[in-house]
Amino acid sequence: MENSIRSLREEIAAFRIGTADELEAFRLRFTVRKGLIAGLFAQLKSVDPARRPEIGGQLNQLKAEAESKIEEASQALVSETKTAGPAIDLSLPGRRHFTGSEHPVQKVLGEMKQIFSDMGFTIATGPELELGSYNFDMLNFPPDHPARDMQDTFFVRHEEGEDDVLLRTHTSPVQVRVMLDRKPPIRVICPGKVYRNEAISARSYCVFHQLEGLYIDKGVTFADLKATIYSFARQMFGQDVKLRFRPSFFPFTEPSAEVDVTCYLCGGKGCRVCKKSGWLEIMGCGMVHPNVMRSAGIDPEEWSGYAFGMGVDRTVLLKYKIDDIRLLFENDVRMLRQFPA
Ligand SMILES: [Zn+2]
Repeated sequence: MENSIRSLREEIAAFRIGTADELEAFRLRFTVRKGLIAGLFAQLKSVDPARRPEIGGQLNQLKAEAESKIEEASQALVSETKTAGPAIDLSLPGRRHFTGSEHPVQKVLGEMKQIFSDMGFTIATGPELELGSYNFDMLNFPPDHPARDMQDTFFVRHEEGEDDVLLRTHTSPVQVRVMLDRKPPIRVICPGKVYRNEAISARSYCVFHQLEGLYIDKGVTFADLKATIYSFARQMFGQDVKLRFRPSFFPFTEPSAEVDVTCYLCGGKGCRVCKKSGWLEIMGCGMVHPNVMRSAGIDPEEWSGYAFGMGVDRTVLLKYKIDDIRLLFENDVRMLRQFPA
């Protein structure tokens, strides 16, 4: 009996398992219910009872050895198939990584926001569907101001005795909301889309982007406004730009000015874009009108402030030499792909 055990142990140790078929052959020969090990167990009955525990122990150990050999071999086979994996064709071209890109308007807006953020302005946003009172009345627009005209404004609700509901015609109502919400000092920029009922052409569209700024604190003067605009213009259009402030009129600021920069395309020499003048208009600005402050509950005797506002799209068109504003809104992917991230 002990000889049989010894020779079976040697056979098991020498059995080479390299494939799934060999593994199955090993199992069938040694460990199944009618295998060789089970056969030896069956002979245990004929062993001298005094030696049975010892022989039985040897048989159990032999069975454990055979089972652990099966376990090892099957794990080796599994990991082999894993590393081999499905056939890989190394000559295939790789999969293209799709990277999105920023819309040119968002690129320029992002630059503008960064410049003002660096100067301590925070960003405020508001709804594009706005109340007439916020869009006009609280900004000191007289009741008969032409901007309130149906020709210029998209009205959503326009009924006698009710506040109008409209698509905002500028981002200034965001300033009103900020003034109503917060106590001075206030230093915000309001970027966003605005809507005007204009004939659509290469030069104008019914939607465009504005960025406005508002600063209210004690003792704010026009000199502060100029310094801020200068700092912005240098960072945005180049260190050498010159500025020109022309007196102007807006209902919500007094005094008001329009700001020109030296044409950054021709350096001020005069070109087709600046119509040979050497100047490009970039924004309107002024000191916040006391009426606007009052309607937002801010005492104009105690506080003063400035506001400015600029169109974003024109800068985008000039910067990227795009000659039709409609291209910015049609989202033609062939156009957008020209502005990789
Ligand atoms: Zn020019």
